[in-house]
Amino acid sequence: MTDEKFFEEAEAQIPHGQVRTRFAPSPTGYMHVGNLRTALYTYLIAKHSDGVFILRIEDTDQSRQVEGAEEVIYRTLAECGLKHDEGPDVGGPVGPYIQTERRGMYKKYAKMLVEKGHAYYCFCDKTESEEDSGEFEREDCPCRSLPLEEALRRAETEPYVIRQLIPHEGTTTFHDASFGDITVPNDSLDDQVLLKRDGLPTYNFANVVDDHLMGITHVVRGSEYLSSAPKYNLLYEGFGWEIPEYVHCSPVMRDQQHKMSKRHGDPSYEDLRNDGFLTDAILNYVALLGWSPRGELAETEFFTLSELADAFDIAGISKSPAIFDIEKLKYFNAHYIRNMEPEAFAKVAEPYIRQAVKNEAYSVSKIAAILQNRCEKLTDIPEKLDFFDELPEYDIECYTNKKSKTNAELSLTVLKAVLPKLEAVADWNEDSIKELLTKMAEEMGCKNATVMWPVRIAASGRLVTPGGVVEICDILGKEETVARIKKGIAKLET
Ligand code: GLU
Repeated sequence: MTDEKFFEEAEAQIPHGQVRTRFAPSPTGYMHVGNLRTALYTYLIAKHSDGVFILRIEDTDQSRQVEGAEEVIYRTLAECGLKHDEGPDVGGPVGPYIQTERRGMYKKYAKMLVEKGHAYYCFCDKTESEEDSGEFEREDCPCRSLPLEEALRRAETEPYVIRQLIPHEGTTTFHDASFGDITVPNDSLDDQVLLKRDGLPTYNFANVVDDHLMGITHVVRGSEYLSSAPKYNLLYEGFGWEIPEYVHCSPVMRDQQHKMSKRHGDPSYEDLRNDGFLTDAILNYVALLGWSPRGELAETEFFTLSELADAFDIAGISKSPAIFDIEKLKYFNAHYIRNMEPEAFAKVAEPYIRQAVKNEAYSVSKIAAILQNRCEKLTDIPEKLDFFDELPEYDIECYTNKKSKTNAELSLTVLKAVLPKLEAVADWNEDSIKELLTKMAEEMGCKNATVMWPVRIAASGRLVTPGGVVEICDILGKEETVARIKKGIAKLET
């Protein structure tokens, strides 16, 4: 196929007339919070307009390849419900969606740009890193003014890169949805490498060609790419292509000064999951890191993914960096935990419950029920349950409590009185236990707490427990509760 025909066919395939966004991660093996937020905003911009959300894997930087890294991307998007309509695994009309699988094509476009007078072959003996870092002095480069014929002849035998030909004079202006119009003098831009010696494109070139050929209408990415945007505009203009809407997002920061970073131990999406946060809570919180709802929803904090898609608007994205606050995330997480269906909560809590409670006789759903309103993160669970499998050692002092008006002596009286009654319960459940204990308080002419406190201490050995004495005794069962009350009595008698 001639290049002419190839270009025509590629143009003909570009979908038009709908919002099309893409999440374009490099497979680094790690989805940091900022990446997740970019993915989310990209998805929401598409879905708000019933558009198409595309996944493109940007793997041209072979030196940064990490084994299994693409899996992290697929897994995270799937868990978060950010379902892509087109991508390497699901296909689509403008594939392939992995950059290295598109490699043959970039050279054709780079050459096209040379012919259009916006790029040139450069034979200078520079290291690739120097080329990438932009330390190249274009004024000193003889290749910039080589006649095309001569360049083409040399390219047949000599190694070369293709560089963007940036005009010396004038300025370039680009528009960003949050940052507005930004104008830079052209002499501040470098003749960046578009095609490397190995024939692979740089990110700076591939993103423009791919975004065009994939019909991307909104380019959503981190603000670290703002400074490159003028060069991208010159590329689009050089090709005669329409410039997409840019939506650059300010970084997510650990504190006022520092971006979140893997190197400094800041958590990735998967770290947060492992740390006991729910995906829905993470997504909800991350959505608000740099975007605020407006109008009627201005005060709303809690959004499902589809509510976010309805509410999301580009104008609500903030220019200022957002600070990631783990306490705020805990607050969201606790809300999501509390609002789960009890069975759903029991299911997610089960592995954490079973870390601490190995005795299968103790019901996961009953234990989950006492925890649901009392934990911020799933990882809080095991430490709250350390008294089930085995009664921990505890001090007699625990029986003394001002509010419940108890002391060791009175507790002994209560436990002795309660023991035969507990032993006599035929139908062991929360209702029967509660009735027995309240009746007991009535008979003794004291507050309920004066009975409940000593029984709870004897049953759990803990001053603080999730759930009250009734729930705990119910979960422990009659036999174990009775045995623990006896131990309490023995302890208080010595
Ligand atoms: N591959 C780039 C990154 O992971 C994507 C930037 C973009 O979305 O254009 O940072």
